[in-house]
Amino acid sequence: MISEPKKSDEFAAKAKAIMQRLGVDQRLLADDGLKVRTPIDGSVLASLPTTDSNAIDDVVVRAHEAFLNWRLVPAPRRGELIRLLGEELRLAKDDLGCLVSLEAGKILSEGRGEVQEMIDICDFAVGLSRQLYGKTIASERPGHRMMESWLPLGVCAVISAFNFPVAVWSWNTAIALVCGNSVIWKPSEKAPLTALACDAILQRAMNRFAYAPDGLHTVVVGWADVGNALVCHAGVPLVSATGSTRMGKAVAPLVAQRLGRSILELGGNNAMIVALSADLDLAVRAIAFSAVGTAGQRCTSLRRIIVHDSIADSLLNRLQAAYDSLPIGSPLDPKTLVGPLIDQAAFQSMETALETASQDGGTVHGGGRVLAETYPEAWYAKPAIVDMPCQSEIVRQETFAPILYLMRYEKFEEALEMHNGVAQGLSSGIFTNDVREAERFLSAEGSDCGIANVNIGPSGAEIGGAFGGEKETGGGREAGSDAWRGYMRRATNTINYSTELPLAQDVVFL
Ligand code: NAD
Repeated sequence: MISEPKKSDEFAAKAKAIMQRLGVDQRLLADDGLKVRTPIDGSVLASLPTTDSNAIDDVVVRAHEAFLNWRLVPAPRRGELIRLLGEELRLAKDDLGCLVSLEAGKILSEGRGEVQEMIDICDFAVGLSRQLYGKTIASERPGHRMMESWLPLGVCAVISAFNFPVAVWSWNTAIALVCGNSVIWKPSEKAPLTALACDAILQRAMNRFAYAPDGLHTVVVGWADVGNALVCHAGVPLVSATGSTRMGKAVAPLVAQRLGRSILELGGNNAMIVALSADLDLAVRAIAFSAVGTAGQRCTSLRRIIVHDSIADSLLNRLQAAYDSLPIGSPLDPKTLVGPLIDQAAFQSMETALETASQDGGTVHGGGRVLAETYPEAWYAKPAIVDMPCQSEIVRQETFAPILYLMRYEKFEEALEMHNGVAQGLSSGIFTNDVREAERFLSAEGSDCGIANVNIGPSGAEIGGAFGGEKETGGGREAGSDAWRGYMRRATNTINYSTELPLAQDVVFL
């Protein structure tokens, strides 16, 4: 299915109108600087001045001053700011969702879905603002009480990737603000417009709220050097970085060197076991969404299928038929299910991976460029399935594109071994109607990932759970459950309400 080409300035005009409606200060846009392109047709949406990495020190000082005031605002009142942010996001949902589509190439329903995720985390954070609970602990000393207090941490740096340009910010920022911290956000250089839009939306909420100090939230635009300046700054106690494992391996030692704290959300290489008893109708639908949604550019995208040998051919045939029916085209067309890759480099890495897989003995179905005549400056690809004889080196790497490798197994133990036999550990799933297999998959001998699902795919997580993964995915947790603890410092308090001074462990002194 081919979408109608647009005039090259049409998307820029659309993005500009949205940003105006959302209240982005037009002076933030410039004639030169960082050129932001839409992956829809490769045209320039806007140019932005970038933050000089030498200016980061001033930004951190300002954010620290804001923190000194903000930490004294009671947490439920801080929650009120996030409640207002949620209201503003509800009003901005269509505009911001469309801007995500323009800038990141996501289909409209996924762009809007990302904004819904922001609204959901705001709701969660509002409730959390009255639940930053510590424990009361029995003291061994008479007339003493012990407790834990959770206290604000300081300036939090948020570094984000292009593929979830707004949701990842909200997971971090809604929680960090409720926890009493200030935030400096370095968005992806490929998606800074949505960042300016989010900042403007938050500003609207702040304008309706009496207690938000200047500098509570700042966006800094630029490339890795700007991120690096935040990473190395001693005034930033927490760096929450989302992106490739390569980025995480550069960031983690620098933060560790200054004994700072990091939350790392890095690359995935997510697999699904399809067992003999699986409901194949459900499995095919789950696989298609997980592997091809967002054109395979989710950290949780399904990249490996490990299927029981006796149903592998049937599954492959059904998947090929499902893949053939997927409309590829402009993400702004409501009928489209597969949008563009972010840029030419992404397409080339897909091509290279498919060539390597083929050399490793894989049979490639699909792949290749489409819509090149309609969009010569953009990169649309036909999603690929590769029937692999084994889990070779290329399968063990994350290629950020719609490639699904299919491997076969006979014994369940082999499937588990293949499943865990990669460096990444983000998300996973099993399709089975055998309760023993399902429970083994979730048990200590099963999936080694931060997310393990039964009878659903690995992508499309809800915000209520803690999100993140193990091994080279970085070990960080964001969003729901008790992930908020990563944004606070814990103090253990002992209070003596007696007239004696007994020492712990019966030590005698004076
Ligand atoms: P990327 O690593 O190229 O960039 C991510 C961010 O890090 C950008 O803002 C970039 O400017 C910054 N950055 C890069 N090098 C840096 C450095 N040395 N110091 C400081 N900042 C630096 O990633 P991308 O291409 O934008 O996104 C795709 C990758 O992100 C994939 O690997 C995907 O799996 C991963 N991702 C992970 C999650 C998760 O939650 N685990 C979520 C989204 C994306």
